[in-house]
Amino acid sequence: MAKKQFQAESKRLLEMMINSIYTQREIFLRELISNSSDAIDKIYYKALTDESLTFNKEDYFIKITADKTNRTLTISDTGIGMTQEELENNLGVIAKSGSLAFKKENEAKDGHNIIGQFGVGFYSAFMVADTVTVISRPLGSDTAFKWESEGADGYTIEPTGKDSVGTDIILKIKENTEEDNYDEYLEEYRLKSIIKKYSDFIRYPIKMDITSSKLKEGSENEYEETTEEQTVNSMVPIWRKNKSELKDEDYENFYQEKRYGFDKPLKHIHISADGAVVYNAILFIPENTPFDYYTKEYEKGLELYSNGVLIMNKCGDLLPDYFSFVKGMVDSEDLSLNISRELLQHDRQLSLIAKNIKNKIKSALQSLLKDEREKYEKFYGAFGRQIKFGVYNDYGMNKDTLQDLLLFHSSKEKKLVSLDEYVSRMPEEQKYIYYASGESIERIEKLPQTELVADKGYEILYFTDDIDEFAIKMLISYKDKEFKSVSSGDLGIDTEEQDKAAENADTENKDLFEAMKDVLGGKVKSVKASKRLKSHPVCLSSEGDLTIEMEKTLRAMPNGADVQADKVLEINVNHDVFQSLKNAQEQDKEKLALYTNLLYNQALLIEGLPVGDPVEFTNDICKIMV
Ligand code: ADP
Repeated sequence: MAKKQFQAESKRLLEMMINSIYTQREIFLRELISNSSDAIDKIYYKALTDESLTFNKEDYFIKITADKTNRTLTISDTGIGMTQEELENNLGVIAKSGSLAFKKENEAKDGHNIIGQFGVGFYSAFMVADTVTVISRPLGSDTAFKWESEGADGYTIEPTGKDSVGTDIILKIKENTEEDNYDEYLEEYRLKSIIKKYSDFIRYPIKMDITSSKLKEGSENEYEETTEEQTVNSMVPIWRKNKSELKDEDYENFYQEKRYGFDKPLKHIHISADGAVVYNAILFIPENTPFDYYTKEYEKGLELYSNGVLIMNKCGDLLPDYFSFVKGMVDSEDLSLNISRELLQHDRQLSLIAKNIKNKIKSALQSLLKDEREKYEKFYGAFGRQIKFGVYNDYGMNKDTLQDLLLFHSSKEKKLVSLDEYVSRMPEEQKYIYYASGESIERIEKLPQTELVADKGYEILYFTDDIDEFAIKMLISYKDKEFKSVSSGDLGIDTEEQDKAAENADTENKDLFEAMKDVLGGKVKSVKASKRLKSHPVCLSSEGDLTIEMEKTLRAMPNGADVQADKVLEINVNHDVFQSLKNAQEQDKEKLALYTNLLYNQALLIEGLPVGDPVEFTNDICKIMV
C-alpha cells in the first residue's frame, strides 16, 4: 500500500518535537489518555443534545494493556472514534499551513512553547514507540480504519474490523539502548504510577489488568498469579477535592493534563463557593504569553462543567476581556444541563459566577503584587498590556477595578512601581503624577522635557507602551492626583517668577517667534519661550488632548489615522543658540530660516519622529559648517 507523506511541515515539527519538546518521555501516556478522555467527553456532549443517544457511564472507560512479549502498549477507549478523514486530518497533519511560518519567525524566542499550542500531543507517542497504529471506529459507523506510521516519513491507512465504537492506539515500544530504558513502559507498576501521577483526575475509569500473586486457596505456602482488572485512577476531579489535600504539583499536573499551556502556571486560584451561587473553580494565571494572545485568533474562556459534566470548552462569558489570559474551569450544580449557548448568556447564575470570579482574580493578582513581587512582575511582563487595554476599553468603565494592578517604570526607583507607591511618596507640594512617553526607557531618560520636573526631584513614570498614554487619559487621576505629561503646557511647578519670565520673553521676542513660525509654515501651532528646558536648546510639546506620542501611535495603526498633534516648538531663551537666533533675525533672514529648520528637525529627532526631508536636513548641517 502506498505510504502517504506527512505534510512537509509536519515532518519537521515531528522531528523537532521528538527530540526536544518534552523533557520527560513518560508524559506520552498523559497525552494519549487525555485524548481518550476528550473522545469520551465528546460522546457525553453529543448525548446532551441528541435524544437518540444515551450515555451510560459504565460503558465508557479507557484501558491500558501492556504486552511484554510483543513489546506493545495499547491505549483503548470507548470514545467517539475517528472517521478515515479524521484519521488523516487529525493525525496526518500537525500544523495547518501558516503555522510553520509563524513558528519560524518565533523560533528564536521559544520554540518549546509554540509547538505546545498546536496540539501535537498524539505525536509524543513517537518518543517511546517505533511504530504507532491507530484503529478507530467512529460513532454511527460499522467500518473501522487502521492508521499506521513509523514516524516522520509518513503513514498508511486501510479499512479494518473493530467490534465496537472507539479507538485503540497501539505503540510498538522501542528497544532499549545504552542510554535509554524503554522497557519501563511495559512494566505494570511503572505504568500505574505514571497514570496516578498525571491522570488521576480523569473522570472516566482508566483500567489495567493487574497481576498479583496470592496464596493458593487451601495452601499455606503456595502462591499463584492472578490477574484482575482494576481501575487505577481515583476519578475524583481535583476541583472537588479539599484544598488542604492538594499540593502545588497537583495543580501543575492538572494544568498540563488539561493542556491549558505548556508553561507552568504562575499562580492557581482554587475556589469552592457556597454562597449565593454554588460552584467550584480552578483558575490559573499562566507564566508566559500564548503565542497568539494578542491576535484575533485568541479565544478567551473557561471550561464549564455542570455537575462534573463538561458542557462547554470555552465559555467566554465567564471572563472579562481584561482577564482573558486566565485559564481554567468552573463546575456548578446550579446550571441546567441542557442549556444552549444562547440561553447560557442570559443565565443569571452564570453572570453571578462570572462576577465572583472576576473579583477573585483581581484579589489574587493584588496579593501577588503585595506578597510575591517578582512573580507579579513576571505576570505583568506577559499580560500587563492587556490590563492597560482594560483600563482604556469601554470608555474606562473598568478603570477602578484595574488601576491598582498597573505598573510603570519609575525615573527614581529605576524599576516598575505601582501608582499607589508613587502617590504615597509624593512630596506634599507636588501637585501631579508626572509621566514621560517615548520608545524606550533610555530614550525617555534623555528627553529634554523631563529636565525641569526631574530637577525638582519629582519622580517621573516612563510610558514605553503605545497604549500607556491612552490608558492614562481614561484614568485622568489616581487618588485625586491628576496625571501630567512632562511635555504638557502647564507643569504646575513653575514659580510665579518663572511664569512671568517666560511670558516676558514671549512678548519681547514676539516678532522673532512669529518669524520662526512662518518659516515652519503650519508645522507648528506656535513657537514659545520654554519654561521646562535647562540645558537643551529646543523641544517639542503639544497643546490640547492629542499628544505627540498618541499621534505616533495612531499613525502607526494599520489603517493609520491622519491626525496631527498641535505642536509647539519650545525655545530655551537662556541657551547660547537663542542669541544666534536673535542675531540672525536682525542681520540675515536666510540664516534665521536655516537655524529654525535645523532646530525644528532636531526637536523632531529627539521626539523620535522622522524629519520630513532628511536630505535637506543634512544639507542644512553642511551649510553651517562652511
Ligand atoms: P490535541 O488533542 O491537542 O488536539 P493531538 O495531536 O493529541 O492534539 O490529537 C489530534 C486530534 O486527533 C485530536 O484533537 C482529536 O480530534 C483526534 N484524536 C486523538 N486521539 C483520539 C482518540 N483517542 N479518539 C478520538 N479522537 C482522537
